[in-house]
Amino acid sequence: MAQVARRRAPERARADSPAVRAGGSAGSPASAVQALLRLQEQAGNSAVSRFLGVHERPGVALQRAPHGGHAEAAARAEARDVARYEATRRRHDRNRAIVQGWLNAGAAQHHDTRLRDSCEWANTGRAKISVLTKVHDSAARSAAAGHAGGAAWFSYPAGDLTSAASYYTRRPHQTGAWDNTNVNFEDVAGVDGFSDSNNHTIALMETAIAHGPGYFYGVLKHEVQHAADDHGPSALDGYQTEFRAYWLGSGEYDSVSPRAQVERLGYHWNARQWAIFHYLYRDPAYTYVKAAWDAENAEPNRALRTFQQAVIAFTRPESVNPDNSIRVDTFYEALKDTTPADCAAHTPASPNVKAGAMLAALRLLESGERQQVRRNRLYEPLLTAHLQGSVLATVRRTLTL
Ligand SMILES: [Zn+2]
Repeated sequence: MAQVARRRAPERARADSPAVRAGGSAGSPASAVQALLRLQEQAGNSAVSRFLGVHERPGVALQRAPHGGHAEAAARAEARDVARYEATRRRHDRNRAIVQGWLNAGAAQHHDTRLRDSCEWANTGRAKISVLTKVHDSAARSAAAGHAGGAAWFSYPAGDLTSAASYYTRRPHQTGAWDNTNVNFEDVAGVDGFSDSNNHTIALMETAIAHGPGYFYGVLKHEVQHAADDHGPSALDGYQTEFRAYWLGSGEYDSVSPRAQVERLGYHWNARQWAIFHYLYRDPAYTYVKAAWDAENAEPNRALRTFQQAVIAFTRPESVNPDNSIRVDTFYEALKDTTPADCAAHTPASPNVKAGAMLAALRLLESGERQQVRRNRLYEPLLTAHLQGSVLATVRRTLTL
């Protein structure tokens, strides 16, 4: 499975889905944010216009040009380039403020728990959010770097939302050397985001910001689920994490019923399960799904087709952390880190470090999260494998509270 996943067409489709439109409906927190941001953007735009007005006045450039003719034209071009660069930096500041505003609004609202938890996940730095603004000289810079026809964006990897803004270096006089520190190149126009699981980064291009907060929230919930579900590296793990992320996160197939049954490829599926599989099977971003499925078609005994059987059996997006909660994540990690021997060594008077950390994480779970963990059948084998005795009894009792 690729470590860096680029997002293209599905995100545009997402913007038109009913789930995403609902995110911006009147009266929702998203629409309140949008109204605020419209104001913010208008203010920002007029500031940039004023700035450009100053810098592009011909007189300014003329004063800077010591000689007439060629030098004068070069000085004017340089002044224009500086103005465009400065305007782009300001636009970047505004883009960052917009996305941070969305995260804060999502974390403050209470009627979408998964959204609240996903924003909290980002605001506490478990995922880094990188906002990418197109550089002012994108076409020339991309071509010079061997990405002709592509686009150049900043800033990545430095300057995620939990850090101070980071910018890029302007090429002086349009003849100097290119400095591409913290510039991200894309070979294809239309890429509006990517996630890099190596450093837990969700990158969002400003073109995606234009789709509004509903779209961003869908991408955020999708990508955080990838981090929250603790999936492994196999093709099946890759399929299952995408299945969870589309079902629980971005919700492209929310309108397709999981109760309706369909018969496809000689198997029974629920309609939403089939819709997500079929999308992943055909999309070039997930070629490993088609490869793993097709590789088993030659096996006449369907019971021996292990990948296909596992795909068919995965009818619901079972996840150790379906709502992207940081509290469930801490508890889950602490549970995996605890052994029966740690539990045997643990007493209230003399706490074991691992068991104590796990119990502390347990006490921080919200009541809805305790219920969710208790009903989640993925936890039963974990509890019995990692805990024993009075510690196990304490955990079971606490989960019923
Ligand atoms: Zn994904």
